Amino acid sequence: MKVCKKCGAPQSDKRLVCIYCGEKLPDRLSVKEERSHRRDLEADMNDAVDPFRLSSSDKVAGVISIIGIIASVVTMIVSQSPYAIYGFMSIIMFAFSAVMALAPRVLWNFRIYTLGFKFNGEPEPTEWYTIGRIIAVWVMIAAGIYLLFMVMTQTHA
Ligand SMILES: [Zn+2]
Repeated sequence: MKVCKKCGAPQSDKRLVCIYCGEKLPDRLSVKEERSHRRDLEADMNDAVDPFRLSSSDKVAGVISIIGIIASVVTMIVSQSPYAIYGFMSIIMFAFSAVMALAPRVLWNFRIYTLGFKFNGEPEPTEWYTIGRIIAVWVMIAAGIYLLFMVMTQTHA
């Protein structure tokens, strides 16, 4: 197998120029290179079809949620404020957003279980479900940050 340096298209060893872009093709890949190339392609394809793949937005949301939980716990411990109890609510918000962001498959299974869906074969989440989940994650994070901010500002007041 040869791989075009310009457009990345895999081609037959017999070709001298790329069938897609006309670029002169390099030497054929070694057996080892070819194996790793195939593995990359396969991983890309699996990612493209996996509705539960973590996007970078999910990863960022997950990290913020975990930092939020830690910040809430610390704030509740050190805060002398009568509002420290709100820390519990921000922990709950951040815990929800963490699970929703980092464990979409768990969330989906839970939804199927609680709604008692009757499906033929394995149900897949729709685009709208996925968009709804991402919006819910960020709403939870916003609520958690707001509550945490309230506890912190009351502490210093
Ligand atoms: Zn090409």
